[in-house]
Amino acid sequence: MSIVSVTIRMQDRPDGPVTELTTIGEHVAPGLAITPATEDNKLHGGWIITHTPSGQLVFPISGCLTCVRYATRWLTASGIDWTRANDVVTADPDVKQAVLDFACTVDDTCDGPDCGGVADTMPEAA
Ligand SMILES: [Zn+2]
Repeated sequence: MSIVSVTIRMQDRPDGPVTELTTIGEHVAPGLAITPATEDNKLHGGWIITHTPSGQLVFPISGCLTCVRYATRWLTASGIDWTRANDVVTADPDVKQAVLDFACTVDDTCDGPDCGGVADTMPEAA
């Protein structure tokens, strides 16, 4: 893991304007970084996974840093090539399942900043 510069592309609605924001991220795999989550143009303490080639969120659920780091294993242990273009990645059924597993794990287990709850449910890293 290392700190990288990540450009996030945000769009409130499908036909709305795209806003780009460059921020820091923690590189977790080729094509993926943990970045700060925002809501109503404010940081709220949560973290999300960003697909770095496109700047798109992998899933719009945020969690504490510890839970997101652990749950990222769903996304990185699957052998998915996250460096592909966003439309190719999102059409991949393996991606859909990995993202669903990631999102359900964070949503069901994370209890806010510094909870670390996901850590208790995940197998050890290989
Ligand atoms: Zn948590």
